[in-house]
Amino acid sequence: MAAFTDRLGTVEAEGNASRQGSSGVEVVLPSDPATPAPLCPHGPTLLFVKVSQGKEETRRFYACSACRDRKDCNFFQWEDEKLSGARLAAREALNRRCQPPLSRVLCVERYVKFIELPLSQRKFCQKCQQLLLPDDWEKHREHQAVGDISIAQLKRPSQLLYPLENKKTHAQYLFADRSCQFLVDLLSTLGFRRVLCVGTPRLHELIRLKASGDKKPNMKSLLLDIDFRYSQFYMEDSFCHYNMFNHHFFDGKAALGVCRTFLQEDKGEGVIMVTDPPFGGLVEPLAVTFKKLIAMWKEGQSQDNKELPIFWIFPYFFESRICQFFPSFCMLDYQVDYDNHALYKHGKTGRKQSPVRIFTNIPPNKIILPVEEGYRFCPLCQRYVSLENQHCEHCNFCTSKDGRKWNHCFLCKKCVKPSWIHCSICNHCALPDHSCKGSKDGCFICGELDHKRGTCPRISTSKKVNKAVRKQKQRKSNKMKMETTKGQSMNHTSVTRKKKRRERAHQYLCS
Ligand code: SAH
Ligand code: ZN
Ligand code: ZN
Ligand code: ZN
Ligand code: ZN
Repeated sequence: MAAFTDRLGTVEAEGNASRQGSSGVEVVLPSDPATPAPLCPHGPTLLFVKVSQGKEETRRFYACSACRDRKDCNFFQWEDEKLSGARLAAREALNRRCQPPLSRVLCVERYVKFIELPLSQRKFCQKCQQLLLPDDWEKHREHQAVGDISIAQLKRPSQLLYPLENKKTHAQYLFADRSCQFLVDLLSTLGFRRVLCVGTPRLHELIRLKASGDKKPNMKSLLLDIDFRYSQFYMEDSFCHYNMFNHHFFDGKAALGVCRTFLQEDKGEGVIMVTDPPFGGLVEPLAVTFKKLIAMWKEGQSQDNKELPIFWIFPYFFESRICQFFPSFCMLDYQVDYDNHALYKHGKTGRKQSPVRIFTNIPPNKIILPVEEGYRFCPLCQRYVSLENQHCEHCNFCTSKDGRKWNHCFLCKKCVKPSWIHCSICNHCALPDHSCKGSKDGCFICGELDHKRGTCPRISTSKKVNKAVRKQKQRKSNKMKMETTKGQSMNHTSVTRKKKRRERAHQYLCS
């Protein structure tokens, strides 16, 4: 799975993920709710700004929240761009055309019909990733199909569907059985009765599978995912087609209502949200979304001092980023393993280190990690840690983040990765072959490490405003030119419209 490593590799290389995306594109969080973002087929777009080393902020633009590859959704609009009525109409038509071919209601109707068919008539088209009713057979005659789809198979759609590995959009990496089992057992031990699964289709299915085996099912699950293929397998109350980067429910108010009811049932007691977003995704919009889900849960709460329990599954090098938005979260040492992911799953050779962890607001002393998988309880830290993660007497903490033994550096006054050495030029520990005084991780404008471009003390607000006005004037005259060059500036590949349309169609048929 080169894609997976690439993705993690680049993110990690960015340096503790203080800034994501090597292109230097940052998301601008909405400050003015009065100007709603324009819509792409994936709901409201996000406002981005392109930044480059040593330069001030450049022109801001709207782009798709869900697709980080222009090939998947090529929506682009300058923040201050005014569209003609004709272009707006064309966009609306496109947004409508890009919606899934089958409505949510129709999917449910089809599913009900499908389970009533005799086994020999239950077919699944692998090419179209679709359950076929007898009326559809003719259309899919030339396609590869699987027959005799059993109820057991219908209960495990994540095994029937192929994972959408496109790292820039779905980045579907499914939990390995042991990690998924661990999560379900943990949720049950902690006493949760409802699990809001945001981008965790395999966890959702395992919860339901276990519950269906129980005499008295004690755990329910609701899946929110952008992968529309799952709507073929679940009723309206257990799946919503959802975009977690903009909190958009593709099926409108009805679906939003399903989610709200689920969160607020039992006065909000006994519910947890578990999410495993694409790692290439931006932390800020995710945090904004999760805060909206938290607010939705809170509406139904009697006491407001409580927090919605959350498991956010993400690579360890996002720790500071996540804790910035959710200060009550801590990172567990448990390594989450994936199936379709060559590097981070347990092979015959034993445990490979996965960089993926669970971030949670549940006190870590309540979370027992499996001893047989190499975890131990640290009485000093009052939490379970990896066997190799040793308690540092100087830091008074089990400091390793990556499962290896870390070493204490007395000059840095903290523990560092075993591969790092103290550099007297940089005055901190780093890889032996690092380039000294590299400002890579710091602010784009001044290079300092403790802030980002947006909060750089070197740009004054007035300067920013003046610049924006000047640019706006310039832009008006350049509009036509921009239209034709944006392809290059956005790193578009020059594909013909027809091809783009085909790709979009493909995306929706397959998702
Ligand atoms: N490990 C999880 C799957 C995580 S992969 C499991 O086994 O259950 C990431 C998941 O997030 C995929 O299911 C993918 O379809 C979903 N996803 C990707 N982008 C999304 C978006 N913008 N909104 C909602 N879900 C998204
Ligand atoms: Zn889009
Ligand atoms: Zn087919
Ligand atoms: Zn230490
Ligand atoms: Zn050091």
